[in-house]
Amino acid sequence: MRASDLLHPRPEGLYCPPGDFFIDPVRPVNRALITHGHSDHARSGHRSVLATQQTLDIMGLRYGEDFAGTTQAAQLGEAIALDGVSISFHPAGHVLGSAQIAVEHQGTRIVASGDYKRQKDATCAPFEPIACDVFITEATFGLPVFRHPPDTEEIARLLKSAAQFPERSHLVGAYALGKAQRVMRLLRDAGYDRPIYIHGALARLSEYYQSQGIELGTLEPATVEGGKQDFAGAIVVGPPSAFADRWARRFPDPISCFASGWMRIRQRAKQGGVELPLIISDHADWDELTATIKETGAEEIWVTHGREEALVRWCELEGIAARPLHLVGYEDEGD
Ligand SMILES: [Zn+2]
Repeated sequence: MRASDLLHPRPEGLYCPPGDFFIDPVRPVNRALITHGHSDHARSGHRSVLATQQTLDIMGLRYGEDFAGTTQAAQLGEAIALDGVSISFHPAGHVLGSAQIAVEHQGTRIVASGDYKRQKDATCAPFEPIACDVFITEATFGLPVFRHPPDTEEIARLLKSAAQFPERSHLVGAYALGKAQRVMRLLRDAGYDRPIYIHGALARLSEYYQSQGIELGTLEPATVEGGKQDFAGAIVVGPPSAFADRWARRFPDPISCFASGWMRIRQRAKQGGVELPLIISDHADWDELTATIKETGAEEIWVTHGREEALVRWCELEGIAARPLHLVGYEDEGD
């Protein structure tokens, strides 16, 4: 069977004709397989959804329990048959519950990675390379300029700044699903034991992470109606959007920080008024992308959302067939 007969792009998303399902569809469909809970991949309104239990839980928290007609939880590593097509989910190391989806039919195996990273992350299961004929990779940071430093170094810079300016507050912008909890966990693993103050938009997901055994320590709402002095020396975590509005003004002489792979680009940090950029990403950097492609042993690479061209070119130079998939509708909320 030709790989493109097993999976190919449609306006709704990546479609599998023999199994009659879509992976991460951007429009409502009958049968959706979902890699992870970020809003550009996990949308509400499908008739049925197959995903890991944690991704289903996260969708329920974000969209309400009626986000789909029916749901089925996939166990990691367990094969499920859909109209003769064998499906299995494998950890992607991106955010809690994130999974790659392996699709196998008549001797051809394609792995759709969804979003993934290889850096160690205590808040989710590590990426597992799966041998396959075709590997579908993201390319959010698919340029050689993107090399993420160790996240522990970035957190050490945050803690150093907090120690240096005990009268100021540090506002850390971090996406609500995954990045925020990872930042908090990194702070705890670095020995920070004071309460961490969080924006309301992070409360339910952070609570969910803790219910799944991801220790985040004492979290307190950053909404105390006391004086500004309450937050002197505090570390406050919130979604990046919150720092643009009035909410941010309650804190004393704040230092604006942002945890994102884009912080590698100094100009981008500057434009966003970020004083302390933290290069912490939930996506693979250039070295992780190229190493992963080699590890899968795939003869063919399909590249989705991001900077497709450089990665396609790299594959060609390595003698690996590659092409961009041109899927639309993915703008990762969790970079
Ligand atoms: Zn994502």
